Amino acid sequence: MSIVVQKYGGSSVANVTRIRQVADRVMRTRREGHDVVVVVSAMGDTTDELLGLAKQVSPNPDRRELDMLLTAGERISMALLSMAIRDLGGDAISFTGSQSGIITNDRHVDARIIEVRPVRVQDELANGKIVVIAGYQGVSYRREITTLGRGGSDTTAVAMAAALGAEYCEICSDVDGVYTADPRVVPDARRISALSYEETQELAESGAKVLNAQAVEFAKEKGIAIYARAMASPLPGADPSADGTVVRRHPPRMPGTVVGVASERDVLFLTMEREGVSRAKCAPALREPQGTPSDESRSDAFAVQDVLALLDEHRVAGKQLHVRGDQLTLVVSRENLHAEAQLRDALTARFGDTVRVADTLGAISIVGTGINASFDNVRRGWNALRDAGVMIEAATTSSFRISWMIERSKIDDAVRFLHRTFIESATLA
Ligand code: ADP
Ligand code: ASP
Ligand code: MG
Repeated sequence: MSIVVQKYGGSSVANVTRIRQVADRVMRTRREGHDVVVVVSAMGDTTDELLGLAKQVSPNPDRRELDMLLTAGERISMALLSMAIRDLGGDAISFTGSQSGIITNDRHVDARIIEVRPVRVQDELANGKIVVIAGYQGVSYRREITTLGRGGSDTTAVAMAAALGAEYCEICSDVDGVYTADPRVVPDARRISALSYEETQELAESGAKVLNAQAVEFAKEKGIAIYARAMASPLPGADPSADGTVVRRHPPRMPGTVVGVASERDVLFLTMEREGVSRAKCAPALREPQGTPSDESRSDAFAVQDVLALLDEHRVAGKQLHVRGDQLTLVVSRENLHAEAQLRDALTARFGDTVRVADTLGAISIVGTGINASFDNVRRGWNALRDAGVMIEAATTSSFRISWMIERSKIDDAVRFLHRTFIESATLA
């Protein structure tokens, strides 16, 4: 029998009625003749509520204890879903991440999966059971309970699908696939029927919540097909792209096509600028080991590295790092940053006002293969934003993405402008 892994997100298990509907969908999948493994998220806003409780107890909650707390959310869902399936006559058993063999590193709050040893899952499938797994969690080699970062249930599902050699991994949410922009922000956004791993990963990293970036990275590495669908959608038929999004290795599309617009609102923009230090002195130090830097330039380079070391000490992951001489800019997502006050205090204590943390900006991105072959897309996007009166703070490009840092209050408007410029107008052409 082929194995199918299905993941149901928080909205799909938000209440008892929905849990029963999920149980029914799982039973239908089973009746189609598949072995079924189900991965569940915490019910509705449970994870946010648990985080809220933690913050009331401590503004800088301990990361290990946060993991002990947050994993409880998924544990509730797994047990309830398993009961609901049993109530419909199915034979289900639930497992925590640790029981399912999800082994992670020991980086609490945003741990990475190192390996999956799904022995118990395989045994129970062999016994004819439907296995229900708590998403978003694992256990480290030191036997500590860990979580995989916000949105991490997607990662559990894909990692499990890879370890079990599943036919596909279905990610069921409140939207029926990946859209050209968040449909809550852009009413005219369209569902994309097929996406490559690279396009999807870039969209996810740019803030499109519907699929988790690490999950897509896993799927790409292991060649697992992801079917992004709505919980209310029918089971995937002969052509799963007809009523959902299929993410797999796809033949390249026309280079330069923008497939989607994404945004990330909850970010900090960290800048360091050392005044009075000439760039000429700093530059060679950053080119180590080719040159032998003078003591003075060496200490300049270390200043930049000191900031990065402090971020590592506080387990803060940044992106879009840009260093030039004595200047550094970095975007820090707040998603897995739960001790922000502590971080800010540490930065001030160590670097004074040399390091600034702006809390008024957000990132907006367009994504597509080869969109930077010329500067045409950067220029068009820039002009569209400027014509719309959006203040641009910074811009970065990669082979798949153009991102602008802009004022946070204009993010949704900017998404709509860029969607109109790159997607709606392309449809009309
Ligand atoms: P789940 O709880 O099922 O994991 P999430 O809330 O993590 O669901 O992700 C689904 C949400 O992602 C949707 O409700 C939608 O508003 C949002 N979203 C953001 N960008 C996109 C996009 N490009 N396509 C589809 N949905 C998106
Ligand atoms: N419950 C976790 C979260 O809210 C994990 C997930 O839903 O994927 O982030
Ligand atoms: Mg999610």
